[in-house]
Amino acid sequence: MPSLQSVISCLSDYDPSALTVDQVASILDNVIEPIRGIEQVPIRDALDRVLAEDIVSPIDVPAHDNAAMDGYAFSGVALAHAGADGVTLDVAGKSLAGDNTGVAPSLTQAVRIMTGAVMPAGCDTVIPQEFVETIDGGDGDVGREKNPRIRFAADAVRAGDNRRLRGEDLARGQAALQNGRILRPADIGMLASLGIPEVKVRRRLRVAFFSTGDELRSIGEPLDPGCVFDSNRYTLHGMLRRLHVDLIDMGVVRDDPEALEQAFRTACENADAIITSGGVSVGEADYTKQTMSRLGEVTFWKIAMRPGRPMAFGRITSDGHDALLFGLPGNPVAVMVTFYHFVRAALHRQMGADVPPLPLFPVRSAGPIRKKPGRTEYQRGVLTRGADGEWEVRLTGQQGSGVLRSMSEANCFIVLGHDQGSIAAGGKVHVMLFDGLI
Ligand code: AMP
Ligand code: MG
Repeated sequence: MPSLQSVISCLSDYDPSALTVDQVASILDNVIEPIRGIEQVPIRDALDRVLAEDIVSPIDVPAHDNAAMDGYAFSGVALAHAGADGVTLDVAGKSLAGDNTGVAPSLTQAVRIMTGAVMPAGCDTVIPQEFVETIDGGDGDVGREKNPRIRFAADAVRAGDNRRLRGEDLARGQAALQNGRILRPADIGMLASLGIPEVKVRRRLRVAFFSTGDELRSIGEPLDPGCVFDSNRYTLHGMLRRLHVDLIDMGVVRDDPEALEQAFRTACENADAIITSGGVSVGEADYTKQTMSRLGEVTFWKIAMRPGRPMAFGRITSDGHDALLFGLPGNPVAVMVTFYHFVRAALHRQMGADVPPLPLFPVRSAGPIRKKPGRTEYQRGVLTRGADGEWEVRLTGQQGSGVLRSMSEANCFIVLGHDQGSIAAGGKVHVMLFDGLI
């Protein structure tokens, strides 16, 4: 991996005490490299894992031209020879899904066909059964009548309608899935449709995390005066679970140089990345920062953002092992904002995943929003439909960086860009949604 120093020295206007959000993202992107380990797993177990190979389709999908509707297959040429009362065809046979009867109708014949069944030779069109009138008293089924015939209006279909072409989903040799993709249910289904039983994926990333701060109490301990329950570790646990990494929860580490050094060393020897919260603010009178600096190359940033201004980043080493270190601020909302806006992408990069940035959508702000230019803000919003049916966003109440309720109530971030100023009611803002379908 390139050293942090070498990456930083390439930035023209690097100032650790006034970094923009974009500069931080670019430093992380340039410093971090993917882990190397790869394993082969059955496709069901590959869900949410990072694909470590390109998948090229070994077959045509579908393997044959087939019917997209239940109805009758025929040659589109017959449409040009329609009589005054439409197209009349003799029913010459049947093609059900899964069989290949080898019926070869003539130009004046049709074949009863079910969705997914192979198109008979010479047929390129399917007339859905609801457009068809069966004549000679039959229902069009072969065997029920001596000479079943069908009739339909010539303009009910065009030649080639209601037929799926061989290789239409994926042609043999075509790229199906790319190295770096995080596999989703549709991808697993697609692998199955190609007959592929196993794929190569990256090994799971191992992430260790702990909280620092003498005021923290764990659940079950008495809450002494001036103390708070450690919530960051639970939030981090939840956020990391969603990334499908292996977790090492190291609890609360007290503000003691030996305890901290031991925790950092253990984390470093067992994990690819370490996430801590607390103790990185300027003027913080504790040992967290000193210990981080002593064990590796760590920088302490003040980022032009809100919430989440202080953050430490670097790489520490212990006993020949190294690990990335993300020292997040202590405030509960700042932990979540720095995690979602920096750590998430950084861990994706480290796990070898190629994940495009999340989209931002412009919507109307229901009320005015105060904002100072010169920093990026991630306010917490609730996106709903306004009375006129348009989407609009309002702030959740209290926006303080310690108010975790603001994250819990919100369904999106309102992302206010670095140079943006205050917004009037009805003005446009960008939102980033918390929830997705998949
Ligand atoms: P710090 O960044 O250590 O100065 O912490 C900033 C604020 O976040 C303080 O009010 C801390 O009490 C609070 N805080 C720090 N760590 C945690 C934690 N793990 N859970 C809940 N609150 C925390
Ligand atoms: Mg602290």
